[in-house]
Amino acid sequence: MAARTYARIALDGSPRYAVLDGDTWLELDAAPWHGGRETGRQVAREGARLAAPVEPTKIVCVGLNYREHVAESATVLPGAVQGDVPKEPLLFLKPPSAVIGPGEPIVYPAGVTRLDPEAELAVVIGRRLRRAGEAEAEDGIAGFTAFNDVSARNYQRTDGQWTRAKGFDTFAPVGPTVVSGVPWQGRSVECRVNGELRQRGNTADLLVSVPALIRHISRIMTLEPGDVIATGTPAGVAPVSAGDRISITVDGAGTLENPVVEDA
Ligand code: MG
Repeated sequence: MAARTYARIALDGSPRYAVLDGDTWLELDAAPWHGGRETGRQVAREGARLAAPVEPTKIVCVGLNYREHVAESATVLPGAVQGDVPKEPLLFLKPPSAVIGPGEPIVYPAGVTRLDPEAELAVVIGRRLRRAGEAEAEDGIAGFTAFNDVSARNYQRTDGQWTRAKGFDTFAPVGPTVVSGVPWQGRSVECRVNGELRQRGNTADLLVSVPALIRHISRIMTLEPGDVIATGTPAGVAPVSAGDRISITVDGAGTLENPVVEDA
């Protein structure tokens, strides 16, 4: 499969799926994972405004999937996590309403006392998967991108489950591009805050591999084209404040940058 780079670009005021051809975005009439074809319209790469490159029906997140992050989580979530590697993948959902694209602000909600970004590799599902084996799962990956699993730690500690802590509007920055036809393995995953490195991991260190995650998830819920799986964050999580700029870089998929703003 040839390497391809996909995005959603602002065109006539509304985001359109597009595929990169050199220095030009070629508009598609639908998402590539819904069979989108070129329309003939083009936009120069330089200066093109990018929106979130996916419109998932669900975002399935995996907690505690890097060994060193499991250890630090015992200090971030006292009592909730014992520092043991989970026996099975720990799953939770983010609502599609939390999705934002590159450059859009992360809103720091009133009532949150600690807000952490989490740099993650996200994979985008390319076809409907139900009870997939690992080979089918691997074939069903449309591509990968960068994801920020924004987390309100105080609610993660107090609520017993993570819907509120992980589900606020703007808590799912994703992008800037979806890269297809190149391996997700061996990708560096980094978080910078105001340019300063906070997290640096590599997808070679995932405790549960991407195909094994998809196999596991697809035995619980049917995965649809465009759905997003966030594969967990490496060590180094730390809080941010309104005014900070967060950059998540997944090698190959570009840098996802979002400012943090006060809740108006
Ligand atoms: Mg996470």
